[in-house]
Amino acid sequence: MQIFNTLTRSKEDFKPIEPGKVRMYVCGPTVYNFIHIGNARPMIVFDTVRRYMEYKGLDVNYVSNFTDVDDKIIKEAIEEGSTSEEVSQRFIAECKKDMASLNVKPATTHPLATGEIDGMIDMISTLIEKGYAYRAEDGTVYYRTRKFEGYGKLSHKNIDDLEGGHRDIKVTGDDNKEDPLDFVLWKPKKEGEPFWESPWCDGRPGWHIECSVMSKKYLGDEIDIHAGGEDLIFPHHENEIAQSEAANGKQFSRYWMHNAFLNIDNKKMSKSLGNFFTVREILEKYDPMVLRFFMLNAHYRSPLNFSADLMEAAKNSLLRIMTAEEKLKDLLAAGNGAETKTADEENLLKESENYVKKFEDAMEDDFNTADAIAAVFELVKFINVNVNEERSKEFVTEIKKTLDTLSDVLGLKIEKEEELLDSDIEALIQERQDARKNKDFARADEIRDILKDKGIILEDSREGVKWKRA
Ligand code: AMP
Ligand code: ZN
Repeated sequence: MQIFNTLTRSKEDFKPIEPGKVRMYVCGPTVYNFIHIGNARPMIVFDTVRRYMEYKGLDVNYVSNFTDVDDKIIKEAIEEGSTSEEVSQRFIAECKKDMASLNVKPATTHPLATGEIDGMIDMISTLIEKGYAYRAEDGTVYYRTRKFEGYGKLSHKNIDDLEGGHRDIKVTGDDNKEDPLDFVLWKPKKEGEPFWESPWCDGRPGWHIECSVMSKKYLGDEIDIHAGGEDLIFPHHENEIAQSEAANGKQFSRYWMHNAFLNIDNKKMSKSLGNFFTVREILEKYDPMVLRFFMLNAHYRSPLNFSADLMEAAKNSLLRIMTAEEKLKDLLAAGNGAETKTADEENLLKESENYVKKFEDAMEDDFNTADAIAAVFELVKFINVNVNEERSKEFVTEIKKTLDTLSDVLGLKIEKEEELLDSDIEALIQERQDARKNKDFARADEIRDILKDKGIILEDSREGVKWKRA
């Protein structure tokens, strides 16, 4: 298995530190809003990396954090008159719902920054003891960037070139820094903000220290893979390396993986350009599997453009795979063929193994999901040509298993959902009305969500509840 390592800028053979086991850390979102479709890219991409590794028999310990204390969360809390805890808890729950819709497996551990403050204080103390950090007069603790010899090795930046461009890493409280390159590990509290006690001042951690600490706690000092979007290479991941390697005295992560950005209609997604979409908004228009399939149609290191046309194309392509799956299912349900496979079918099965091999070769080559999907389409074509009512059950079962396994590695659910009959819909609507009358709003909301998942839209009107299929 080859992985493109940002650290060396080359594809390298993947060798885990402990044979058979993978320790993987993926930087998670800051939870102040619903996740946007850009955030969904690393989730889907690295979930697919994990799934492929598990398919190969590796035991993956997958850690992904939620940043639940941050300026943006505090701002949101102030705006809505609640607390940052309330805001982050709500959006963590919403993010988990989106992940489930997109068939992104829950991480082995999803640590929260606010649950790991003690570890952060420990690591900052170690850095101060070792001379890599210092407390400024106002209580801010800074990392002494120049002291870390390898600084710039991930982003391939020369520390002396950074001086002029230090705006990139400028942070609050700059006046007290020894050097403009130094970055914050701990910052003093401000009025109305959440804070924790520390040996330096009441305050809260800087963002970079979170990931160094959570990775150490759940995966150890040395890990196999650290991943995230390419915007995190500098300064976030560069700073994580400086912190972890200075504190632990060991190489932090062997492989660094970064996904390229998702753009909208060839422009950077931004609220001010009015081209900002949450996953939730997109899932109102498309099946979540279409979004997942769309993301995997590009290599994770290539920029990906999102547009309505491309989503339509993804929808139609995915439908071809789903139709092949349905054909296999229907044949098995009809049960017309003989029980056991013939010699001819045995040969066909051998032929189908070529597509599995192509799929694996693509995935072994730095997770080239675009080529892996092309191999799945070759298998679909093979099914369309070679599978019919005369085939034995054993043959159809084995082909179906192959298609299901490859789809599952990509995290694609390819079974067409059973459509609800009109009578079922009306019965559910009646049950929802009854639940509302009985003030059982939880059940009423649950029914609305069930119907929504099946593409049924409810409209409450004066004449009663109307419904339509999306
Ligand atoms: P954030 O909440 O901004 O820290 O982002 C969470 C994750 O989403 C990080 O790995 C980011 O690199 C990634 N990310 C943010 N925007 C995009 C985008 N437009 N395309 C791809 N990845 C993104
Ligand atoms: Zn991180």
